Amino acid sequence: MPSSSPRDRAQPQSTKRSFLKQLLGFGASATFIPLQSVEAQINSQPERRPGLTGKRFAMVIDLRKCIGCQACTVSCSMENLPPLGQFRTTVLQYEVENYEGDQPAMFNLPRLCNHCENPPCVPVCPVQATFQREDGIVLVDNERCVGCAYCVQACPYDARFINTETKTADKCTFCEHRLEVNLLPACVETCVGGARVIGDLNVPNSTINQLLKEHKDDIKVLKPDQNTQPRVFYIGLPDEFVDGVEGQSSVRLVTEA
Ligand code: SF4
Ligand code: SF4
Repeated sequence: MPSSSPRDRAQPQSTKRSFLKQLLGFGASATFIPLQSVEAQINSQPERRPGLTGKRFAMVIDLRKCIGCQACTVSCSMENLPPLGQFRTTVLQYEVENYEGDQPAMFNLPRLCNHCENPPCVPVCPVQATFQREDGIVLVDNERCVGCAYCVQACPYDARFINTETKTADKCTFCEHRLEVNLLPACVETCVGGARVIGDLNVPNSTINQLLKEHKDDIKVLKPDQNTQPRVFYIGLPDEFVDGVEGQSSVRLVTEA
């Protein structure tokens, strides 16, 4: 099963070799990067691949409960073993002036892949290494990935990075290997404040659907105007953060909003 798990280190593949040869211009008839054909595909999503049948996974993050302890960041790294200094999820801490009062307030914003309903990272991949499953989870087959970083550029949320060890694309997978055996993602399981909830949108009375219904007037996603339809929903996200958060996910102690 293709996966971006670090335990499945990238192996040379004929697909990868032939694409790299094309990329590097080897051979008399080789053309350079097939960028035009890639761009033409940006707005057309390829067919989804099989996943957990009948499910559509999503996450709600209740920011009122996040205390910025980074337990999720640590547990994700222990579970998925990204290289030192690279993270699949982070909790950025912001100092916000005049946020609900005169004194600056600290604000924690957990970030991860949104497993978007319309993910722009998928159609740009020239070797179909990035794909979406029917259950909504977006994955990278790092045996096919050639590390061109088109998907890194295409993601409006800076949720992807090129893994410095595998030289392939990496990001949050919703811990799909754990979901497949009925375990919670590492970040959800270890969240001290219970701020992260994962669930199945296709089950009407699931906890996540109840949260979405109960807080329908306060549910926000990041960058809604990008038409990506993120499936990570926030409760308690200040308007200033909806379109205003930029930058590669990284651990920063304090930065300005
Ligand atoms: Fe792709 Fe970025 Fe959306 Fe994740 S957040 S599915 S990497 S576009
Ligand atoms: Fe596909 Fe991204 Fe790998 Fe390039 S870096 S081959 S776009 S998954």
